[in-house]
Amino acid sequence: MAEQKIELDAVIVGAGFAGLYALYKLRESGLSVRAYERGADVGGTWYWNRYPGARCDVTSVQYSYSFSPELEQEWTWTEIMAAQPEILDYARYVADKFDLRRDIRFGTTVSSARYDESTRRWLIRTDQGEVLDARYFVMATGSLSTPNTPQFEGIENFQGPVYHTGLWPEDGVDFSGKTVGIIGTGSSGTQAIPVIAEEAAHLTVFQRTPNYTLPANNRPLPPEEMAQVKRDYADIRRTQQEALTAMYGFGGRQDAPPTLLIKETTEADRMRALDEHGFFAVRLYKDVAVDLEANEMACEMYREMVRRTVADPDMAERLLPRGYPLGCKRPVIDTDYYQTFNRDNVTLVDLRRGGINAITATGIDTEQGHFEFDVLVAATGFDAMTGSYLGVDIVGRDQRSLRDAWAEGPRTYLGLQVVGFPNLFLLNAPGSPSVLTNMITSMEFQVEWMAECIAYLDQNQIRSIEAIEAAQEAWIAHVNDVAEGTMHTAPSCNSWYLGANIPGKPRIFMPYAGGYPRYKEKCREVAAKGYEGFRLSA
Ligand code: NAP
Repeated sequence: MAEQKIELDAVIVGAGFAGLYALYKLRESGLSVRAYERGADVGGTWYWNRYPGARCDVTSVQYSYSFSPELEQEWTWTEIMAAQPEILDYARYVADKFDLRRDIRFGTTVSSARYDESTRRWLIRTDQGEVLDARYFVMATGSLSTPNTPQFEGIENFQGPVYHTGLWPEDGVDFSGKTVGIIGTGSSGTQAIPVIAEEAAHLTVFQRTPNYTLPANNRPLPPEEMAQVKRDYADIRRTQQEALTAMYGFGGRQDAPPTLLIKETTEADRMRALDEHGFFAVRLYKDVAVDLEANEMACEMYREMVRRTVADPDMAERLLPRGYPLGCKRPVIDTDYYQTFNRDNVTLVDLRRGGINAITATGIDTEQGHFEFDVLVAATGFDAMTGSYLGVDIVGRDQRSLRDAWAEGPRTYLGLQVVGFPNLFLLNAPGSPSVLTNMITSMEFQVEWMAECIAYLDQNQIRSIEAIEAAQEAWIAHVNDVAEGTMHTAPSCNSWYLGANIPGKPRIFMPYAGGYPRYKEKCREVAAKGYEGFRLSA
């Protein structure tokens, strides 16, 4: 019997912020389109990351859709940086307001996609047995959506529950009266640790690499301030559009750009700066971002601030980041992180003094001894930027899989397309500003570019678009060029931007560091020149 196929113009994978907007935009263009989402609801990252303390590190007024002034006026944020439940409510509100759910299939994983050269269409299969036949295939699967739990020896022997921050149970976890162990002190761990410490009987933190983290300066957003924001939205969006990172300020602060040179300061100057600005003193100097020696001076200021905050000198010493520059990893922001280590019910295991041997039935055995607890939390991050794309078995032209095409690291043209994969669009992918910017704003630009591109193809009876090898190579060279000399690619830097958190992953700096305005300019120029660097076939 012939397979029952559903014919569509476009299939989108993911109903997070990117998938929702892609669905809205392509439907607005008159396309028949459907989104597939493995979760039971919309929200993506904000659906899965429900761990205690989860909140955005970008102000909500900026980390929100800008495409609908009506939506901007209707939605009211209650905090400067909203917590996960509020952001998830916002995603749900958007889905309902624009009636997006009718074209989303929840609880459904897209398992494979094959490009058929004879029809120039994609054949897409889901784990629910659906077969979809679509002209365009859009991966809106997110940069941080494939959780990574390292293969700790003996993890299967642990008697209690194990939770990954990126796969948190919908009903939450009750830590009261429990002893808890947490592995990982990245953004997720840094947010979760203070909140779990308040609730649990005891918390043991297993820290391999201490992070540089700055206070979030979060606070409630009073109604009068929100009312003013609503009046100012047009200006706010304009400022975002001009900003390198598609946002302004850092966390809850709106400091002016740095002007001083740390190398021209004295020890006394730097100590005074710490008295006045606390941890934020490290952001006063412009040479810190480009000069490793200057950077190390700022790191030393940072360490001094940790010593000032943590009461026990040995505890402070164990919390000090060393051996890699500030600005190497994605900035972490926190609420009372260091203060948490002044609590009586928190133990810090600095794995630099002796690593993990194995997980046992009752805890973790390390070189420094055995630590017992009832519940284990893995705040161990994600197979970032490529994991979610390679999680789907995508096979393009000449039977070549994306996994093969990216075996030596991800390769894209403008972060939007890949040679050998016609009519496949990627959102927030490697080669795009994505994780170095406000993801919602830069994604909105990509979705709008894609929708205009598809309209152009339809108007000109063009059936396929594919990146050309030379254009892709030139773009990759440019992506590497602009990353060079930044702290992100310093030899001592290991981060998920580089794939360094996953054993065996090629070390490649994945996002585009040239800034959001420059990226937009390049994409617009490509479109204006009739999609230069792409092969268009009738
Ligand atoms: P992450 O930054 O990759 O941190 C993972 C942590 O787990 C690191 O401390 C890492 O140590 C540790 N770890 C991993 N494998 C380990 C092992 N085998 N043994 C011991 N420790 C191990 O992941 P994340 O904290 O989930 O954050 C990922 C990204 O998600 C962030 O950078 C951010 O972009 C995003 N995020 C954002 C927010 C927010 O908006 N506020 C919140 C959470 C996450 P090493 O450093 O030594 O590898």
